[in-house]
Amino acid sequence: MKILLVTPPLTQLNTPYPATCHLLGFLRSKSIEAEQMDLSIELVQALFTQNKLEEIFQQVAAHTKLSKQNRIILQQADFYLRTIEPVMRFLSGKDSSLAQRFSERAFWPASKRLPSDDDLEWGFGMIGNHDRATHLCTLYLKDLSDFINQTIDPHFELIRYAESLCLRLPEFEPLQAELQKPHSLIDKLMLELIAKKVTETKPEMVAFSIPFPGNLYSALRCAQWLRKEHPAIKISIGGGYVNTELRSITDPTIFDYTDYILFDDGELPLLRLLTGGELIRTLYRSSTGEIVRMNFDNKENIKFAEIGTPDYDGLLSNNYINLIELTNPMHALWSNGKWNKMMLAHGCYWGKCAFCDGSLDYIHRYESASIVLIVNRMEEIMQQTGQSGFHFVDEAAPPVLLRKLAEEIIRRKLTVSYWTNVRFEKSFTPELCYLMVQSGCIAISGGLEVASPRILELINKGITIETARESMKNFAEAGIMTHAYLMYGFPTETALETLDSLEIVRGLFEEGYIQSAFWHRYAMTIHSPSGLHPETVGAKHIETPKGSFANNEIPFTTAHEIDLEYYGKGLNLATYNYMQGVGYDKNIREWFR
Ligand code: SF4
Repeated sequence: MKILLVTPPLTQLNTPYPATCHLLGFLRSKSIEAEQMDLSIELVQALFTQNKLEEIFQQVAAHTKLSKQNRIILQQADFYLRTIEPVMRFLSGKDSSLAQRFSERAFWPASKRLPSDDDLEWGFGMIGNHDRATHLCTLYLKDLSDFINQTIDPHFELIRYAESLCLRLPEFEPLQAELQKPHSLIDKLMLELIAKKVTETKPEMVAFSIPFPGNLYSALRCAQWLRKEHPAIKISIGGGYVNTELRSITDPTIFDYTDYILFDDGELPLLRLLTGGELIRTLYRSSTGEIVRMNFDNKENIKFAEIGTPDYDGLLSNNYINLIELTNPMHALWSNGKWNKMMLAHGCYWGKCAFCDGSLDYIHRYESASIVLIVNRMEEIMQQTGQSGFHFVDEAAPPVLLRKLAEEIIRRKLTVSYWTNVRFEKSFTPELCYLMVQSGCIAISGGLEVASPRILELINKGITIETARESMKNFAEAGIMTHAYLMYGFPTETALETLDSLEIVRGLFEEGYIQSAFWHRYAMTIHSPSGLHPETVGAKHIETPKGSFANNEIPFTTAHEIDLEYYGKGLNLATYNYMQGVGYDKNIREWFR
């Protein structure tokens, strides 16, 4: 059975989302006919063209009620029509000669996002013209995206589609209602693209990999279209969103859109589906309308060493675009640069953090492969993509593996750059950090979570503030940039502990030990140790009826509840300033006024 693997819109635009590449590499290694498409970047490329913008401006011109900002954009429609294609060419690296022109502030129309000359000079200096131009083009695209969101399609955002609708969906009904509405301009464009691909590739199955809530609506819109136009094509869905949210689904309505829902790593479930073997971790609807769960708890998987090399075929001609929203170089890594994405190992070697989905396979099953095989995979991917930058998307790359990786890269005399996630543990000595830099490591990210000794212990992070600081210092002194994941609102965390945590983070920025950070609100999930045993972290579930569609977050009560919105705003405001290199001298309480 021939399969088409699809990343539905919208997700990152600078480089392919890795799931379909991993599956394609594996399926082809089993001689299965398979193709892939990144509908996300294809949609953005088709949308930001002169013709499409013209259609959008014409539709919006008929609106009677427009905000001031949208009226200004409409008045400057000629500028946007003239510049959109050169901007997209520049952002996709096809015409770098425009950098000088685009880096001039005077080139751009007035907008509330447009930074001052001083801010630009502070961010990029006198010679950073290319990044400065990328930054200004990014702000221009964000203005246009807001315009489309507010006038044409409220579901559209630059890197997510209908996310707010799908973020919390205990019942399928709101999504079902939305899917019955007429197609929006964006829907039509997306369906035209998938129609073309289906005509070209003639698949017998289309599989949508849905990583986030912001990819669910578009996957089902495409599936709905396939059902109508190509009823013989089988449809399946899987991916991160499905794995975390749909495990306890009881409403069979989603099977109006898909034939199968696949869980955890997709290699084996897809292989069985395509070759007629016994289904595994697969849900389908029986002829009598009930959901059938085939070997749902079966843990059998293809070994990490045997999944093959990710295959980028079919994505190489896409014009991925570089975006720089903030002037912070660490922050920019997520949206700027064509990173080859692969894993050094499967799962997390620690797997015990109280908030993390430790009971799910993607964290729980730690499996490594020989470093020779990993570096062979790197070399094969470099051959395919012509790019030597890697983002190792591991949950937490073990120090011992990073050491072997660095030694092997150096032994083979490869010139690469890479970045990855780690735990801030004491094994990251000055010597290991130096070795990592020599082999091409440019940045790392890791969870400091709540910088409070009591809460770190409650989280079971297995690190202390002292060891984390020491490893961050070692990274910084070796020249590796660091991003810290932070958390607020953990059960029993007091207002004072939240402020103390920010004070530690402030110090880390000021000392130059971290360059970027982000605060996530703690969410109690049903797959985490804290969700499974809330009493161990001082919390109690609030009994609520179980949803028949998505179930992941659990409401809870705890001692010392704080105003999460108020603290979240202050923490993020402070950190946003620290990332721009300002505000260190301000008393941290001032961020909460
Ligand atoms: S939070 Fe990170 S280190 Fe902790 S268990 Fe999850 S993946 Fe592992």
